Amino acid sequence: LLVAVEGIDGAGKTTVAATLAQWCGERGLLCALSKEPTSLSWGMKLRESAASGRLTLDEELDLFHKDREEHAETSIQPALDEDAIMILDRYYWSTAAYQGARGASIAEVLKFNEGSFPVPDLVLLLDLPVEVGQNRIRVRGDQPNEFEEVEAQQRCREIFLQLPKLSEAKHVTVDASKPWREVSRECLRLFQQAALQ
Ligand code: C5P
Ligand code: MG
Repeated sequence: LLVAVEGIDGAGKTTVAATLAQWCGERGLLCALSKEPTSLSWGMKLRESAASGRLTLDEELDLFHKDREEHAETSIQPALDEDAIMILDRYYWSTAAYQGARGASIAEVLKFNEGSFPVPDLVLLLDLPVEVGQNRIRVRGDQPNEFEEVEAQQRCREIFLQLPKLSEAKHVTVDASKPWREVSRECLRLFQQAALQ
């Protein structure tokens, strides 16, 4: 079972992904938790270049796809082969939304990714107003980067909200502006439905 948690910055993806993984762990279910960009070689390059200066859109797309290729090969596919539950904190919907917000073709990003990598059995799309996400980032003490500017985040949110009708992946949109316990509980419920199917 492949589950991807998606949404703009400050949506609560990492918390939700950890909640799902913990639930699996407590029940002795075989489960792996991973995130994108990864800490593998291309993912580290992505993080370095984000810190040192902006890549062109094509360079950025290329790095995200190389990172995903390595991720799929070393973690995602092996986990699915073992029948494990693989939980991803961001996946290719983020590429469609973030690089789409920079002008990449959303349809092409989806087509490429859905033709190249495992399609999730469930995407939990954590949706919330950009300002609410921004406040959470500030509270968490993170340094806002260019992506975290309100305008870019707004475009990301709009694209995320279009992805349900463009993507092949099964998905549910969750209101992530609620307190995190409620959001986690709702995500867990949806995840259990998918896991028990
Ligand atoms: O919080 P997280 O570790 O998921 O943040 C990763 C960073 O990479 C965020 O700042 C996000 O805006 C950015 N990102 C991006 N394009 C993607 C995925 C993430 O610019 N496809
Ligand atoms: Mg996070």
